[in-house]
Amino acid sequence: MLRLYNSLTKRLEDFIPLHAGRVSMYVCGPTVYGLLHIGNARTIMFWDIARRYLEHCGYQVDYVQNFTDIDDKIIKKAQAEGVTAEAIASRYTEAYFADMDALGVRRATHYPCATDSVGDMIRHIEGLLEKGLAYVVDGDVYFRVAGFPDYGKLSGRAVEDNEAGARVEVDDRKREPADFALWKAAKPGEPAWGSPWGQGRPGWHIECSAMVRRVLGDTIDIHAGGKDLKFPHHENEIAQSEGLTGLPFARTWMHTGFLNMGTEKMSKSLGNIRTTRDVVAAFGAQPLRYFMLQTLYRSDLDFTEEAVKAAATGLANWRDTLARLSGQAHGDSPDEREQANAWLTRVDQGFSQAMNQDLNTAAALAHLQALTHDMRRAFADGSASGQSSAVFQPAIARLRDLASTVLGLDLSAPERAVATLDGQASAFLDLLVSLRAEAKTERNWGLADRIRDRLLALGVRLIDQKDGTTTWEAATPAALP
Ligand code: AMP
Ligand code: ZN
Repeated sequence: MLRLYNSLTKRLEDFIPLHAGRVSMYVCGPTVYGLLHIGNARTIMFWDIARRYLEHCGYQVDYVQNFTDIDDKIIKKAQAEGVTAEAIASRYTEAYFADMDALGVRRATHYPCATDSVGDMIRHIEGLLEKGLAYVVDGDVYFRVAGFPDYGKLSGRAVEDNEAGARVEVDDRKREPADFALWKAAKPGEPAWGSPWGQGRPGWHIECSAMVRRVLGDTIDIHAGGKDLKFPHHENEIAQSEGLTGLPFARTWMHTGFLNMGTEKMSKSLGNIRTTRDVVAAFGAQPLRYFMLQTLYRSDLDFTEEAVKAAATGLANWRDTLARLSGQAHGDSPDEREQANAWLTRVDQGFSQAMNQDLNTAAALAHLQALTHDMRRAFADGSASGQSSAVFQPAIARLRDLASTVLGLDLSAPERAVATLDGQASAFLDLLVSLRAEAKTERNWGLADRIRDRLLALGVRLIDQKDGTTTWEAATPAALP
């Protein structure tokens, strides 16, 4: 049973979608005025994995992610460059797809844009005005927060907090400081649309309420985004949507933690960003993914280059180990089939157990790694007694398949051949060779053989020379039994 942490109830809950077999999911996407940084990428990549896991569980997922393509920041950038807001938005929407494709993020089922949905937003605002939940001041329209008693139920913030909250505009035409703009009257030189209140453009929050309603309906299963959006953005979405329909807007609210630079949230306004493009070029998409997935999505995660490099090494070693274990199947006795099934069951059970507990990719990876370690140990022990590696093959195939289809991790090909053992590895090998020589002089043949067999399992073959010395060579995975 899949359990998800619901930010609204602040509890882990059994996930039961509104319609059996189908899940509707909406993720607040980027404001397209610059390249995505790896904080954005963490959030976008993770919700893609949530969607993949839901599909893996057999659900049909309607996965919607919007683009905010009209906004103060876009207009400002367009003015600075002397181009249209549309040109800026389309440039960075294209860049978004290029970067997310490179990172291995699958395409959503729908990508609505704010500018495509202005008509829906106007109708939504008209509905709120009819209900007395909004008011017009000189071509601007505001939401009347006092008219929605549930305000604050997601973020736990009191209405008064709106005065000082982030992304809350100061505007003395509002009746109450907590009220927020649904529609902004046009300013000279800015893009504008016709409306019953004159030329203007929508506020940021109304975009998502209107797009969710149009594409997915009044009540959706999962609404997600980064935790910075909980307040005021998601709180305002709830007020606008539930204020209009009287129905629950999203049954499960989910939020990713921050990717931090040092201990501060990575954000454009702080100027501490690393673009996804740069990081992928420098370290590769797979190491970046692996680095991010080793932490539970709800926790904050500190970015360091060292950590991504360590992830690259860890991933390469993991691939090597799997490649070495992926030897020829040597037979198919009933005994081997039984062992093979036992390994296979362990892959599936542990993976689902981890992912079912709030999509815990960190625990899922830890499980797959522990299993790889166990197989390697069993192989090293087994190779001494002449057992084949056939019993691991179904489990390895399954493990690779889960890693790829759910986590987007490619565990198939070794990143580097064992033949490129570096200087430090050579020194360790020489040490082991000399310890084995000592074991032999002490007539400890068991230990000497064990060292030889264990090294073979790790991809290194010892060759005893006639003169009593021993050399070693890297054994390619194919050369292993
Ligand atoms: P924005 O364009 O700032 O609205 O961000 C697009 C998405 O990325 C939103 O879901 C944000 O919550 C998320 N996001 C922004 N900065 C970070 C960060 N440092 N760590 C994780 N997610 C972030
Ligand atoms: Zn939104």
